[in-house]
Amino acid sequence: MDAVALTRTLLQFDTINPPGRERDCAHHAGAMLQEWGYKVEYHEYADRRTSVIARAGGGDAGNSDKKPLCLTGHLDVVALGTRKWSHDPFSGETAGDRLYGRGSSDMKAGVAAILIAARSMAKKLSGTPGVVIVLTAAEEGGCIGSKKLAETELLGKAGAIIVGEPTSNYPFVGHKGSLKFNASFRGVSAHGSMPHLGENAVYKAARAVGKLEAFDFKAKKHPIMGEPTINVGTFEGGSGVNLVPDLAKIGVDIRTVPGVDHKKLLQRIKQLLGKAEMEVFSDLPPVWTAPDDDWMQRVFEICQPVLGRKPKARTATYMTDAANLLKVYAGAPTVVLGPGEPQMAHQTDEYCSMERIGEAVALYEALIDDWCRRV
Ligand SMILES: [Zn+2]
Repeated sequence: MDAVALTRTLLQFDTINPPGRERDCAHHAGAMLQEWGYKVEYHEYADRRTSVIARAGGGDAGNSDKKPLCLTGHLDVVALGTRKWSHDPFSGETAGDRLYGRGSSDMKAGVAAILIAARSMAKKLSGTPGVVIVLTAAEEGGCIGSKKLAETELLGKAGAIIVGEPTSNYPFVGHKGSLKFNASFRGVSAHGSMPHLGENAVYKAARAVGKLEAFDFKAKKHPIMGEPTINVGTFEGGSGVNLVPDLAKIGVDIRTVPGVDHKKLLQRIKQLLGKAEMEVFSDLPPVWTAPDDDWMQRVFEICQPVLGRKPKARTATYMTDAANLLKVYAGAPTVVLGPGEPQMAHQTDEYCSMERIGEAVALYEALIDDWCRRV
């Protein structure tokens, strides 16, 4: 089986999140890895929400304490959306170089390329630092699977990370962090004709929104990622026009750059919002590896012939599981590199290029080989 055929097989598992149900897909991948000689472990943080961790080499490397190389991807995909698809989202229809399906680009093609590279390198890993393959559940909508995984001992060690998210095989040196929270403002209800008897929660929330719009991060501009951003995405409040509202709620999405300390930032926001009740539901730091890092330079060199030009330092627009994996693999240089088309992620009629899947397999093999031989 080649990586295109395997992508098609993976597309046939319905791992739409929510609800997720990654278990069957995870066990399919895990069984293959086991057959190829990998030591496979599973982690379920909830029923059928299954992640896979597979290792080869590593522990048996007698002559070096170099850590393994991690290759990671997520098994879940986003919903189909409301628009009608002109290609079946699960059967892997093709037209020209395009392979259609939900998750083709984001990112079952990436997972398939990781798996096929893992197969072809399996016999060459003994006595080397080796690899650890991490296939996660529940990446979409908050990187929950990797968050739960990072709370266990299962990840072990890794010295560098390749995230197979869609980049058209262009190596991205990181991505912004994310801090998302809801804030609730309480008031006192009264009749709309007698507002002086109440306390208007919508006014409180509105004043807070004004402050957030004018918020100064006081952060240094990052040379590649630029400035942090803030967006108030939701605003709810009040239950009737003739009532003084006693509750209003806002949802806020902050994207951070390296150098912004999330804890300190949250303290500043808390002060700004006064008595509001804050509920932080996503807190993921930025991911960044200096482009002149030794390994990143090797990645650039290995990608150059495929791209036809020397890569420049660029970062992805989306979040990845690396933000959680780095809690365990602290300090590991991290590249986001995968065969999917970034602009196809989450689209109707999502597709990926079959040529790029093959290229990604070759890139991953070369990167594993380079990592394991340069001890
Ligand atoms: Zn993705």
